[in-house]
Amino acid sequence: MSSYSGNIFMIVAPSGAGKSSLVNALLAEDPSLVLSISCTTRTPRPGEEHDKHYRFVTHEAFQALRDDDALLEWAEVHGNFYGTPRDRVEQAMSEGKDVLLEIDWQGARQVRRRHPEAIGIFILPPSIEALETRLTKRGQDAPHVIARRLLAAGSEMSHVSECQYVIINQEFSTALMQLGQIVAATRLRYATQAARNAELFSQLGISKTVA
Ligand code: GDP
Ligand code: ADP
Ligand code: 5GP
Repeated sequence: MSSYSGNIFMIVAPSGAGKSSLVNALLAEDPSLVLSISCTTRTPRPGEEHDKHYRFVTHEAFQALRDDDALLEWAEVHGNFYGTPRDRVEQAMSEGKDVLLEIDWQGARQVRRRHPEAIGIFILPPSIEALETRLTKRGQDAPHVIARRLLAAGSEMSHVSECQYVIINQEFSTALMQLGQIVAATRLRYATQAARNAELFSQLGISKTVA
């Protein structure tokens, strides 16, 4: 166990902007990142697996998790409840691992309250038309669900300024590279470098306090 706390990256975006695609591609490049698996009361989409994409739970089970303080954050999004199980995130952080959360702006606010150093990354679509095309082409949601998500996109995007970083997901490979650059730059911050290279810092005679 390390005394060092890993970084938390919160990926926030309107539905269809490409957060899951980007996160999955980043995880394939960097398996040391830990992805938080959210609990949700939403019904699974075709191909979605329990404990892989989400932990699909009943309203009662979700309420029980909330009441037991087992969720780091939770929110109602598009008529369903979503929440981040606390155990996996805190365990990973205590081991010095970096964690990715795919959460909405309400959840990001709650995480920031508990972990002010959490990094917010907002994914924007290149246009509303592109967002609609992506949601439709993904072909996993009923037309009324897509309509609801498109309607909600404006209000989700109005919270973009709450994130330190913004990626416009036009060209997928560019957006993925930019996401990787944010993770890489965060790992070069003093706090992370000093914690991960404590022995070298000590050999170089670098003290922890600034004169
Ligand atoms: P997607 O946006 O098309 O990937 O659709 P989802 O149904 O997977 O997610 C819907 C919304 O729920 C998104 O805005 C997510 O950011 C949000 N969401 C997913 N998991 C969580 C969670 O654990 N906590 C919170 N607060 N929001 C979540
Ligand atoms: P989210 O998780 O934000 O809802 P997804 O990752 O499911 O979004 O992406 C929505 C759809 O858009 C998917 O079908 C995905 O393949 C597609 N997509 C993602 N990024 C791009 C991009 N840069 N250009 C074109 N299509 C994209
Ligand atoms: P979807 O149902 O399309 O998978 O997700 C819809 C929205 O719920 C997405 O915008 C996603 O970011 C959000 N979401 C998914 N998991 C969580 C979570 O654990 N917490 C919060 N706050 N939002 C989540």
